[in-house]
Amino acid sequence: MSVNQQAHTGPPYGQPQPGYQGFQQPAYGGQSLPGAPQSQYGAYNGPVPGYQQPVPPQGSLRAPPTSGAPPPASGASHPSGHVAYSQFEHGDVQNGIPASAAPMQRPPASQPFLPGSAPTPVSQISTFQQYGPPPGSVQQLRNHMAGMTIGSTAASAPPPAGLGYASVPPVSGSVSATGSGLYTPYSASQGPPPPSVSQALPVAQPPFPGQTIPTQRLPAQVPGFTPPPPSTGVGPSSYPPTTGAPRPPAMPGPPLPGQTLAGAPSSQPNHVSSPPPPSTMAGLHPGPPMSGLHGPPPPTHPPQPGYQMQQNGSFGQMRGPQPNYGGAYPGAPNYGSPPGPPPPPKRLDPDSIPSPIQVIEDDRNNRGSEPFVTGVRGQVPPLVTTNFLVKDQGNASPRYIRCTSYNIPCTSDMAKQSQVPLAAVIKPLATLPPEETLPYLVDHGESGPVRCNRCKAYMCPFMQFIEGGRRFQCCFCSCVTEVPPHYFQHLDHTGKRVDFYDRPELSLGSYEFLATVDYCKNNKFPSPPAFIFMIDVSYNAVKSGLVRLICEELKSLLDYLPREGNMEESAIRVGFVTYNKVLHFYNVKSSLAQPQMMVVSDVADMFVPLLDGFLVNVNESRTVIASLLDQIPEMFADTRETETVFAPVIQAGLEALKAAECAGKLFIFHTSLPVAEAPGKLKNRDDRKLINTDKEKTLFQPQTSFYNNLAKDCVAQGCCVDLFLFPNQYLDVATLGVVPYQTGGSIYKYAYFQLETDQYRFLNDLRRDVQKEVGFDAVMRVRTSTGIRATDFFGAFYMSNTTDVEMAGLDCDKTITVEFKHDDKLSEDSGALLQCALLYTSCAGQRRLRIHNLSLNCCTQLADLYRNCETDTLINYLAKYAYRGVLSSPVKTVRDALINQCAQILACYRKNCASPSSAGQLILPECMKLLPVYLNCVLKSDVLQPGPEVTTDDRAYIRQLVTSMDVAETNVFFYPRLLPLTKADVDSDSLPAAIRNSEERLSKGDIYLLENGLNIFVWVGVNVQQSLIQNLFGVSSFSQISNALSTLPVLENPFSKKVRSVVDMLQGQRSRYMKLIIVKQEDKLEMLFRHFLVEDKSLSGGASYVDFLCHMHKEIRQLLS
Ligand SMILES: [Zn+2]
Repeated sequence: MSVNQQAHTGPPYGQPQPGYQGFQQPAYGGQSLPGAPQSQYGAYNGPVPGYQQPVPPQGSLRAPPTSGAPPPASGASHPSGHVAYSQFEHGDVQNGIPASAAPMQRPPASQPFLPGSAPTPVSQISTFQQYGPPPGSVQQLRNHMAGMTIGSTAASAPPPAGLGYASVPPVSGSVSATGSGLYTPYSASQGPPPPSVSQALPVAQPPFPGQTIPTQRLPAQVPGFTPPPPSTGVGPSSYPPTTGAPRPPAMPGPPLPGQTLAGAPSSQPNHVSSPPPPSTMAGLHPGPPMSGLHGPPPPTHPPQPGYQMQQNGSFGQMRGPQPNYGGAYPGAPNYGSPPGPPPPPKRLDPDSIPSPIQVIEDDRNNRGSEPFVTGVRGQVPPLVTTNFLVKDQGNASPRYIRCTSYNIPCTSDMAKQSQVPLAAVIKPLATLPPEETLPYLVDHGESGPVRCNRCKAYMCPFMQFIEGGRRFQCCFCSCVTEVPPHYFQHLDHTGKRVDFYDRPELSLGSYEFLATVDYCKNNKFPSPPAFIFMIDVSYNAVKSGLVRLICEELKSLLDYLPREGNMEESAIRVGFVTYNKVLHFYNVKSSLAQPQMMVVSDVADMFVPLLDGFLVNVNESRTVIASLLDQIPEMFADTRETETVFAPVIQAGLEALKAAECAGKLFIFHTSLPVAEAPGKLKNRDDRKLINTDKEKTLFQPQTSFYNNLAKDCVAQGCCVDLFLFPNQYLDVATLGVVPYQTGGSIYKYAYFQLETDQYRFLNDLRRDVQKEVGFDAVMRVRTSTGIRATDFFGAFYMSNTTDVEMAGLDCDKTITVEFKHDDKLSEDSGALLQCALLYTSCAGQRRLRIHNLSLNCCTQLADLYRNCETDTLINYLAKYAYRGVLSSPVKTVRDALINQCAQILACYRKNCASPSSAGQLILPECMKLLPVYLNCVLKSDVLQPGPEVTTDDRAYIRQLVTSMDVAETNVFFYPRLLPLTKADVDSDSLPAAIRNSEERLSKGDIYLLENGLNIFVWVGVNVQQSLIQNLFGVSSFSQISNALSTLPVLENPFSKKVRSVVDMLQGQRSRYMKLIIVKQEDKLEMLFRHFLVEDKSLSGGASYVDFLCHMHKEIRQLLS
């Protein structure tokens, strides 16, 4: 049997699978076969489906390493290749440690790892004082809300200028920034907000009706309504189409709400909402028990009795003004409405508009209890916020692939009409819960995986065997291929191979193939990868204690390098470099008594001064490495060097990997803008005045193309760069991040790093980053069945052609979002197929192919499309799309394009799928009823609408971060999770039920937790019982709570334990360790917290949910009229 099981595999996947028992690894040999090997250079060369291409030459398309003659591909010692390094003499070579390093002393750094370690009071607070409003963005918002008439919010009367604004500074969402300095640039001198917004005012609001009615009306169009201009600005190729295609005759959409998909037994109702049983409509649907925002038809009608929205069966109620706790945030003024007589205070009841919390809860209740079985085509999976198990029965798990829609239009006209982007968010190496089975590893021996002759698609469950099993027809391109003799098997009476259940590639959605040498660079099996740790030892790094901390941590962390499942020790070799203006390489060969340092001061032409002894096995060189890590902090303890280089550091790592002929990862710990004379030297070009100008995009662009070229070289070598930044000021993340970003690496940023408060977070990130699963030298290609093809890609990678996504490294947290476009018609019968093939080198140096297959339904009815969409995935795509757009277009243009596209999506539904109803009704598709609220969160995010305190580096950092996020991460990032801790059941393991992100949901007497994947806030109300404060913080009163805490004190009582377990649980779910921030109500830090209450209006000018929903409604009506 040639099928192998990986270690860690869980229970067999359902069916009897005798074949999986054999655990022996037949190595690379396998049976030799008569048949010609199919293997082309896997994912690299295959033509895209449907295109006949000559068979490409075997082997890599990549440029060969440039480092001279290829030495033998083995371990660390490479006597050959020295020639290339003859410049060696240019550097100072020192044996042994410099004199200054003499005394070795153990740094005290290890203790502070305790969570409870004393946080020192920090001066953060002062820096938050007195924020004013962000002037620029206000104007923006106004522009874009211009003409809106529907909005109504809590504030009925036109609030005086500034009221309600002054105290709420929006703060960057993501910024994991620590401390103080982050916000310092925003000076206390800011004045009150510009009057513009708050003056635009109140529009007559229709009164609220009681509970019953189906008739909800919004005020009619107001004279002077001018919708935002449809945005165009972005190039056609880089932007989703925003201009709808001419509408074909209305599609006979069967809008019967609640019904399952007509005709498609495989589809299931989406996000079924709960209660109202007969109710066919859980969301905003037309129909008798209607819901939706209704606007008054023509202006002549008197406003109808108010708004009524139905949300999951519950009707909205009229509400009076909320008792806002702080009083400082008295409600949102209406945007853009022409001034008019203040109407009676009425507002759209927030409880009556679609609630993210309700949708999440409903999905959990409806879909969390049973496993998601992937055997059926086009099934919409449970939401990312629902815990569920997956059983692979032929389609890839949603943990690997999620789509914006599981039922895609048959024609491009239909797709254009709907404007719904067709995209898949792919996480090829996703971590699975322990209960699920890792992909099986299949070894087809020397001939490699069986593939279609024409499109090179890999054998998968959708290939059709014919002629008694002697040939198979490709499910992607229809080409018929001979079955290689060794792979032949008889068919049963249903046409299925009798070994169907024995072979993962015939019965599962995801599996791996062992790659043959044909899939390897230069036709040689790869060496195991290497990790090189490169530590900035300039003044700031040393003085902050960072250098000592890193060295101390590495001593233990090196024992946890990634290992192949059953291996005793990691195959990864390690090397060490320190640097400031010059680089120091270390020889840590096991035979040495002491490490040796070699200094390279000629940074203009970087080379690696030693080969033998630079990359070593941790166990063999343990003593020497330990000695080195002890000595580094001492050697540089008295440094006065403040300048650093950066590009030469990457070049050094790259050269070292080239010389060792292996892929690998550089872990660079860096503190400052690289201003020392060297290639890649940067200048400080930060300029906040560019915000809201046409030049704003330059803030996101690298200041030199040098790093793009370097990134290209790194990708060719499989050199992935992970960058840990510890800036005390601007260091140009947009430029420094280029190489990590394009090599598939990660960036971590700890602004104003302080040992006491930040080390725990940093060390957790470092540990996870070093240990996590990663594939090297990776190439991904997505094949599709004829009719659609992958046209656009978003993520951290490099592309040298239009189809192959190349990543020097791809870890288990990274996603690639792929957009598809039609190039022909699809058929409802055959559906559409995706096959993602990832070729990579494992941490043990094994070359593998990971294959994920997914089958989707196709439809000729728009209603089917709208019934099978996934809004969370849609938002993931839209955010990445917009975040890329800011590189080339003004931010406002990008925002307008987003709004326009979403309005078209919803207008198309309204026009073609909803039952006839008043034009004034806002009708949202059930699966997209959260699109407005989530879209608004994206529009208000720091990249697209920065608050005044968000730095240029923060924005560049977030932009890059979001680009690699999976759907769960973007979901919580844009709509943070808010949990009332005081409502938690201390006796249960469950989390308290989340509440909506709005200030009015907070009570003074409670404690809340808010997390967005980067930060965790613990908000304490002023009236919280003293006993709770005592139990959680160990102090006797509210005023004694220190908001400098970076961890919660460990106290022995049920409440403390419960809260800490909630925090730990959340930390465990995220790929980065979140920064914990304690916020006391009415304290200055609260402004930071309020920025994340995303249903409220933001200080940077972002609309409240209610206002935005009304705005969207206007946009939609405009499109329909
Ligand atoms: Zn094919």
